[in-house]
Amino acid sequence: MLKGTAVSAGVAQGRAYVLACGYCSAVPQRSIRASQVDGERVRLDSAVARAGAELLALQDDLREKIGPSQADIFGAQSLILGDAALRDRVLRTVQEKRVNVEAAVSEVFEEYSTNLESAPDGYLRGRAADIQDVRRRLLSALAIGPSEVEAEIPDGAIVVADELLPSVTARLQLDNVRAFVTARGNKFSHSSILARSLGTPAVAGVPSVLARIKTGDRLIVDAVAGVVFVNPEGSVEREYDRLAADLRSSKERLRHLVDVSTVTLDGTTLPLLANVNKFSDTEAALLNKADGIGLYRTEFAFAIRSAFPTEDEQFEFLERAAERMHPRPLVFRLVDLGGDKILPYFPLPPSRNPSLAERGIRLLLRHVDVLKTQLRAFLRVSAAHPVSILLPVVIGIEDVRQVRGVVRQVQDELSAEGKRFNPSIPIGAMIEVPSAALMIRSLAKEVDFLSLGTNDLVQYVLAADREDETTAPYYQPLHPAVLRLIQSVVEGARSTGRELTICGEMAGEPLHTALLLGLGLRELSVAPGQMLEVKDAIRRTNLDEARRLASVALELGSAAEVEALLNEHQRARPGQAANGMSAAPPA
Ligand code: PEP
Ligand code: MG
Repeated sequence: MLKGTAVSAGVAQGRAYVLACGYCSAVPQRSIRASQVDGERVRLDSAVARAGAELLALQDDLREKIGPSQADIFGAQSLILGDAALRDRVLRTVQEKRVNVEAAVSEVFEEYSTNLESAPDGYLRGRAADIQDVRRRLLSALAIGPSEVEAEIPDGAIVVADELLPSVTARLQLDNVRAFVTARGNKFSHSSILARSLGTPAVAGVPSVLARIKTGDRLIVDAVAGVVFVNPEGSVEREYDRLAADLRSSKERLRHLVDVSTVTLDGTTLPLLANVNKFSDTEAALLNKADGIGLYRTEFAFAIRSAFPTEDEQFEFLERAAERMHPRPLVFRLVDLGGDKILPYFPLPPSRNPSLAERGIRLLLRHVDVLKTQLRAFLRVSAAHPVSILLPVVIGIEDVRQVRGVVRQVQDELSAEGKRFNPSIPIGAMIEVPSAALMIRSLAKEVDFLSLGTNDLVQYVLAADREDETTAPYYQPLHPAVLRLIQSVVEGARSTGRELTICGEMAGEPLHTALLLGLGLRELSVAPGQMLEVKDAIRRTNLDEARRLASVALELGSAAEVEALLNEHQRARPGQAANGMSAAPPA
């Protein structure tokens, strides 16, 4: 994983296409006689004219392809090219140093761009790339070799370069380019501005990129987090396939629902939250107008590294997520390791049944250093953002009490170091093990909020491993035993006044929405790609009717019967059109 700066948001996967950096190539240096100075002046003026014509053509082309403001970039470069003071400096260098015009152009432009590069103002620093671009164009007009930009870019390529000059960017076969990765450049570089207006993801500022990526490497460009994966593992690819699907889905069928509120047919407005696994998922969450992050699973950040992320690393990506979502709330879940979530650098003793071996909070409490590091990062983010801490795989009140003890220790340490945090940061428990569900009232009193994790709850209630395909037929989220347990969790939460969110995959299935609302759930947290479908289902639900539906379901004998009931209810619902679209309450 290579780190850089996201300069044009988005994610892309593809093969690297490394562009050699033309302007870095050696500039011919020659000494000249006094009688040749005039000749060099003529060469300079005709090169300026040629480069000027090229810039005009580019400007016209870009105006059509992208728009007038982006085309203005080349208008600004034309001004640099035509700058009389610059021309004078070049000619003076030719005259005084008796060198060829290429050497003089190179020296004068280099000096100019170096001065700009050290400017405190980011905008001015970004202009250095324009100077370099004009320099390169002028040098190529003075007939130095063919330009690399004429190269054929394979379709679906991710262009990797030391620096992308605006003219190079604009002249690439842009339709073929999926993303840009560069060593140089910043948010203000014109190439970044261009990339943003093209909607092409771009990550800049990746150190020694040319030494680390070669043409043909498989890349994932996460230009939300500002990272690039080189030849990533299958699990990373699958994770990004899902994010790409999430981002796509927000654009499609239910697009019109993005801006309407999440309100039932009878007028109750409900929060709709997003489940995220990494910083860049916040992009998909925001595109779908999530009311907050109901579950931030931190395992992914551990899985993509070759060692435990440090406190600062964790703080950095969590703080960025919180910043991006601000002022919406975020629930950070402590890393849930064990079970199927194994890290190569954290081997766990072999177990015949990993789901029943040490995992979640139990494991963290045995590795307090890992727990404390993460708590410190969470707490530091809490200084400026509404974040809370969620404990995974809680069995009972002892787990919560022990963690609270560690939280207090960490808070004392942070105070002693003069670091700020929210002293009453909310602490919540995942309800995903039957013991926690059955003990809900006593457990609820120990925590500030609750989060229902049906993915694990279903496997533990029905003794059906969620990862094992042979037990798949027994893994039944709609089993009445699961529904009864959910109902008692809802009642326990209500009687103790604790907020309860459901964040298991069940919440993202629109067929289940009315049933879940009927069981009394009021806060749903789902993958960003499922948000609009769930919102659609909420907007077609009447709460009284949903309660009746749930009471019928609770009396049924099997998951198959419950599913048949839900299908029938969905078909019979008023306003349900054949295409799945329907009448919905006003925005
Ligand atoms: C769950 O168990 O429902 C849950 C949300 O957690 P995970 O899927 O990460 O185990
Ligand atoms: Mg779980």
